[in-house]
Amino acid sequence: MALSLAVSACAGPGNLFGSKKSSDSRPVIAVSFYPLAEIVQRVAGDTVQLLQLTPAGKEPHETDISAQQLVELSKADVVFYLGDGFQPSVEKAIKNLPSTVTTIDLLQSVEELPQGSDKEYCLPACPNNNPPDPHVWLDPNNMSEMAITVAAEISKVKSLSSTTPLTEGLTTYAEELQKVGALIDTTFKKCERPQLVTSHDAFMYFAVRAHLITMPITGVDPEVEPSAKDLEGTAFYTKERGVTTVFYEKMLPRAFADTLAKMIGAKVESIDAVETISEKDLKAGATYISIMKSNIRKIAAGLGCK
Ligand SMILES: [Zn+2]
Repeated sequence: MALSLAVSACAGPGNLFGSKKSSDSRPVIAVSFYPLAEIVQRVAGDTVQLLQLTPAGKEPHETDISAQQLVELSKADVVFYLGDGFQPSVEKAIKNLPSTVTTIDLLQSVEELPQGSDKEYCLPACPNNNPPDPHVWLDPNNMSEMAITVAAEISKVKSLSSTTPLTEGLTTYAEELQKVGALIDTTFKKCERPQLVTSHDAFMYFAVRAHLITMPITGVDPEVEPSAKDLEGTAFYTKERGVTTVFYEKMLPRAFADTLAKMIGAKVESIDAVETISEKDLKAGATYISIMKSNIRKIAAGLGCK
């Protein structure tokens, strides 16, 4: 548990979990889960102390904010998070913070789409009364938009060293994100099988960008298990469309993906919704950018894209 509270010197994405020094006068920037930590690290580097609320390798939807974390959080200068029910415990904690803490819901920085916007029954557009989908970071363009807000908000913190401009970090990171976005645009121009079968409904923004259609085994919340009837429906749909690969998410249980693959005679392959990165992978240098490139390569192979 101590690891989840720790504030780091922010030396690199692999070093997000160091320990806080009381003599440290740098601003404390809290983030609710991994992709936001990477944004802060890339934009502000070691000019800030980073407090990450979801421990490395833990699934963020069900993150529970402890009383001790709440104490740490109340000392932060800025808290960045995603609302709309993505992490209910974080949203609840934020409501109880003193007014000295600036709280920023980064979903306000991007265009959120209604759930199902990539689905056949929704195209060309899902009705606006579908609830919004918070998995916005899976389109790199939304990462850039959130990074712009993060840089602007951190720049406003009084204790930030004025000698260190954040524009340099922001520009470099935005360029890398733009390249990943361009890779999506060029890789998925023509796919033999545009149905992307995944463990949970996380990849809608990726699918919209890539002109694919997701077929998740569970919903937006990965904790809700599919019934046998749901699984049969998914098997019928995916078999009818000639799906040959069922993708499971590295950080989630893969039993349902294995079952579905068996039912339709498909193979299984892992992808990663970048909701969290294990400490081991962080140490090995994994980042949002490297994981997205790997996702693009595997999805393109599984869907027969040229
Ligand atoms: Zn999710």
